Amino acid sequence: MADGFDCDVLIVGGGPTGVTLALLLARAGVAVMVAEKEADIYPLPRAAHLDHEILRILQEAGVADSVMATSRRSARYDFFTADRQILLRFEGTDRVGPGGWPGANMIHQPSVEKALREELARWPCATLKNCTEFVSFQEDVDGISVILSTPDGEQTVRTRYLVGADGARSPVRHALEVGQHDLNFEEPWLVIDTIVQDYARLPDVNIQICDPARPTTCVLMGEGRHRWEFMILPGEDPYVVSSDSSIAELLKPWDVEGAVTLERKAVYTFRARIAEQWRKGRVMLAGDAAHQTPPFAGQGMGSGLRDAANLAWKLAAVTRGGASDGLLDSYQPEREPNLRATIEMAVMMGRTVCITDPAAAAMRDQQMLAARAAGQAPDGPLEYPPISEGIILAGSPGAGSYFPQPCTGDAKLDDVLDAGHWLITRAALGEATLAPFRDAIATWLDRHGAEAVLVRPDRYVFGTGAADELARAWAQATA
Ligand SMILES: Cc1cc2nc3c(=O)[nH]c(=O)nc-3n(C[C@H](O)[C@H](O)[C@H](O)COP(=O)(O)OP(=O)(O)OC[C@H]3O[C@@H](n4cnc5c(N)ncnc54)[C@H](O)[C@@H]3O)c2cc1C
Repeated sequence: MADGFDCDVLIVGGGPTGVTLALLLARAGVAVMVAEKEADIYPLPRAAHLDHEILRILQEAGVADSVMATSRRSARYDFFTADRQILLRFEGTDRVGPGGWPGANMIHQPSVEKALREELARWPCATLKNCTEFVSFQEDVDGISVILSTPDGEQTVRTRYLVGADGARSPVRHALEVGQHDLNFEEPWLVIDTIVQDYARLPDVNIQICDPARPTTCVLMGEGRHRWEFMILPGEDPYVVSSDSSIAELLKPWDVEGAVTLERKAVYTFRARIAEQWRKGRVMLAGDAAHQTPPFAGQGMGSGLRDAANLAWKLAAVTRGGASDGLLDSYQPEREPNLRATIEMAVMMGRTVCITDPAAAAMRDQQMLAARAAGQAPDGPLEYPPISEGIILAGSPGAGSYFPQPCTGDAKLDDVLDAGHWLITRAALGEATLAPFRDAIATWLDRHGAEAVLVRPDRYVFGTGAADELARAWAQATA
């Protein structure tokens, strides 16, 4: 690059958040570099579930079809008592959600990360450097100088913006001296992934067994795998519980000998934490570096990808489109309420599952079974709050809500429109490109009493109203 910069955006961390952000930036023409300290993709068990919104982000990144090809669908998410009564049931999770993809896509995280990295390699304005570790940074008026440790010694990279997508321990967050809010959830679990030989002998939906003697998770995965997670009980030694002989004992009630073989295992302490500040000067935090959630709602990686979608268009507008740097201030206020709701849901699920005292578990069962019998328990897909402050035309109907992706047959709206923001008017619904989606969009406009809608590049609604006023307000908000 000219003007003394090596890139517009340097991302520390080549996990799913960092590489997705890099892809979205590269597609917008931003010069981006990813520094990843490891030689390869993280191999241990982690994400198994991505929802419809996340598949839409992966669609934008160019990898949704390859992710769909290796993933499976689960029609339900059930929480059972020890004697298999239903405590909670989320139905229809395989149905196509507002994002235009099925609700529950069960994946193998390393396969998704591989697809993302392969796609990134196609973009000349993006580079991913493995074995390259963030050491420190120095910010000045025009940009940041970042010191990286590489196999050839220390190097200084000059960038306009730095994003720490470097995971839960986040050296970038530490360098920024940003603390974390602790949402008081901390439970150790053993996680095992198996290779499947016989699907017919395995559950075909996602399950939590709320048995105080051993809270257990059993979920589908992609790429020929199946997952179990077992809570490590108070007083137990994680090393002993995770031995192969102990795992064979834990799997006995599932009667899966010969149907699966153990591939990999890990002990994790599930936590709920949120960084106090997601932006400091020219540095932003994203993904696990900014927040960590227990996995019970399957939203950790998904939250990182939502951060990437929110940040990407703003960083592109600031570095390439001449927008003011102040646009980036909207990142945390827009994302944090959605993220908090996600973590609170996961913690609620975790507190439901992780009860090991038999008397407390009996009381939980009684209360939840009664609530369910009275029709008070949730049975639909999870929903999260709209954006309430930031880059929206506050007060206009639908502002801040998620704009759905209509689909007909194999056709999806996002595939026929450009990657940037959209101004969709009723008159435009007559155009041939929009013809397959005309009814769905007209219904959306009717419901909001709107003549036109302006949809942001991350597919949240900026606002509704008259087309020229929307265009003016958008230009002002992103100047
Ligand atoms: C058991 C389990 C189950 C889960 N289930 C789900 C699920 O079903 N759905 C879901 O959405 N999420 C799930 N998650 C969470 C998900 O795996 C994480 O949220 C996700 O991996 C976070 O991605 P990230 O890119 O933000 O961070 P990471 O994946 O941690 O990537 C950070 C990267 O930064 C690199 N790095 C660190 N320090 C440096 C440095 N100094 N210099 C350069 N690079 C550095 C690391 O090597 C790493 O590659 C689960 C997690 C666990 C543990």
